[in-house]
Amino acid sequence: MQSIPRIAIVGAGPVGTLLAIMLARAGCEICLLERRADPRHSPAESGRSINLALAARGLAALEGAGLLERLRPEMVEMRGRQLHDLDGQGPLLPYGQRPQEVIQAISRARLNIALIEAAAELPAIRMVFGRRCLDVEPLLGRVQWQDEGNGATGVETGELVIAADGAGSALRQALANRGALQAREELLAHDYKEFLIPARPGGAWALAPHALHIWPRGDFMLIALPNPDGSFTATLFLAAQGDLGFAALATPAAAHAFFAAQLPDALPCCRISRRSLPAIHRASSARSTAGPGRPGV
Ligand SMILES: Cc1cc2nc3c(=O)[nH]c(=O)nc-3n(C[C@H](O)[C@H](O)[C@H](O)COP(=O)(O)OP(=O)(O)OC[C@H]3O[C@@H](n4cnc5c(N)ncnc54)[C@H](O)[C@@H]3O)c2cc1C
Repeated sequence: MQSIPRIAIVGAGPVGTLLAIMLARAGCEICLLERRADPRHSPAESGRSINLALAARGLAALEGAGLLERLRPEMVEMRGRQLHDLDGQGPLLPYGQRPQEVIQAISRARLNIALIEAAAELPAIRMVFGRRCLDVEPLLGRVQWQDEGNGATGVETGELVIAADGAGSALRQALANRGALQAREELLAHDYKEFLIPARPGGAWALAPHALHIWPRGDFMLIALPNPDGSFTATLFLAAQGDLGFAALATPAAAHAFFAAQLPDALPCCRISRRSLPAIHRASSARSTAGPGRPGV
């Protein structure tokens, strides 16, 4: 009788979870280890979650896993990039040449939860949350982990170990420490901060729907992607330091002045500026205590 392959996957982000589903359907037994708490039962991480823009490749992957139709109601079609110049004007740059050539906006948190829900339906997948992987012994297929709650440590084994633990992969670093590979991480000088632009009263769209809105400003930009409820998830990408950086947005007044000067048409359309701008300020505080920037992707 053929034995069932046992695979350990580290990281239950979109890649690790989708891979777990596809491998389980192909007959493998999966252990999926994730550092964070189970997102189905914990509040969504706010501030850095960002919407994802799914193009043909991402949609094909979801279709291959049989999840595309389940996730369709969570998606909003984006037909092009709507640019916003300093005077609030700008063209819509279509993504394709034909009407059906569009991309889809989806909440990263909702996508991840939907994937985890689908994985939970498959008995061949064992998911363990709150378990941070620290090291891997590649020849033995042993992954060492630590419980984020009580600090307990242990080992998970697999005939194959797959590192899907993101841009700052701990497993990649562990392999580099063991001399199995050479790794180099280049940190970006920019940081980002997500905030919500709510729907207008009655659920009307806050900005023109079906577009990815971009306020391009050379060294920085604001983007906003639509949500099914008429709101938009906006993300400000800005240098961490400098006069035009998060560090300079030290007060809500400074952040307000920054928006008024650089993103004037975004300020009134947000209508939530008084609530959201202090949140941008918080991102700059966190950034300055966090040490070096996030790894480049
Ligand atoms: C600002 C920004 C905007 C982006 N926009 C888009 C977009 O519009 N469209 C698009 O397709 N892509 C976009 N991307 C890229 C996209 O986010 C990544 O390609 C995607 O998140 C990669 O998925 P992943 O599962 O490999 O990694 P991640 O999403 O990073 O997931 C890794 C998982 O591993 C877990 N983990 C980390 N370390 C450990 C550990 N030691 N032990 C256990 N678990 C661990 C993490 O908690 C996380 O759940 C964007 C990226 C950024 C930074």
